[in-house]
Amino acid sequence: MKLTIGHLYPELLNLYGDRGNIQCMMKRSLWRGIEAETIAFGLEDSIDFSKLDIVLLGGGSDREQRIVCSRLRDIRENFHHYVEDGGSVLAVCGGYQLLGHYYKTEEDTLEGLSLVDLYTEQGEGRLIQNIVLQSELFDMPIVGFENHGGRTCINNNKPLGKVLYGAGNDGKSGYEGVVYKNVIGTYLHGPLLPKNPQLADWLIQHALERKYGKETELTPLDDSQEKEANDYIYHRFVRG
Ligand code: GLN
Repeated sequence: MKLTIGHLYPELLNLYGDRGNIQCMMKRSLWRGIEAETIAFGLEDSIDFSKLDIVLLGGGSDREQRIVCSRLRDIRENFHHYVEDGGSVLAVCGGYQLLGHYYKTEEDTLEGLSLVDLYTEQGEGRLIQNIVLQSELFDMPIVGFENHGGRTCINNNKPLGKVLYGAGNDGKSGYEGVVYKNVIGTYLHGPLLPKNPQLADWLIQHALERKYGKETELTPLDDSQEKEANDYIYHRFVRG
């Protein structure tokens, strides 16, 4: 078995170690004897989505998002087919915002990919803090760090989780992120996946199922250290 991960525009969308998400998925695959490779795409590269099993869009500043935006129209249609076909995607912060219809800043409105029915508008002040969620997808809480000026409205989509500590999508709905088909959009940096191995495995599992069929089962790994760290954060911010 083999997974190919597409890393979109890492020279622009790579805040707070979002690249660590790639390393985490690579390692967790390799440790299980699943071959894994990553292809990094620059703005000038053409992307063959049919070759990809997981796509990562990391976070970026408004300036970097603006640059990436100029390229989105060219990839939108193929990316849309990939998502509708069940392709796995992890989109973090700036990348999450770009999944939606638009990101409206004080200066302008950046047109997004419209892959998920959501939109983002800049609010007053930035939402910067540690964040803890409870997701319906997992027993273990999801932990991370958020830093965004945009407030995201996910319309009727399912959120990634309920906010136990922190601001989340807009600081008031009480929810964070989005889950649409096999796409996860979230404001959590950190990077997200090494802190939340359950999420990394969710992406890997869905990618393998799409490629090789439903019977794929992931060999359990020793996540005791990750669980301990997760538990520490949960108790520090939620149960403190
Ligand atoms: N520029 C976006 C915002 O501030 C996203 C920032 C990020 O990716 N951390 O909302």
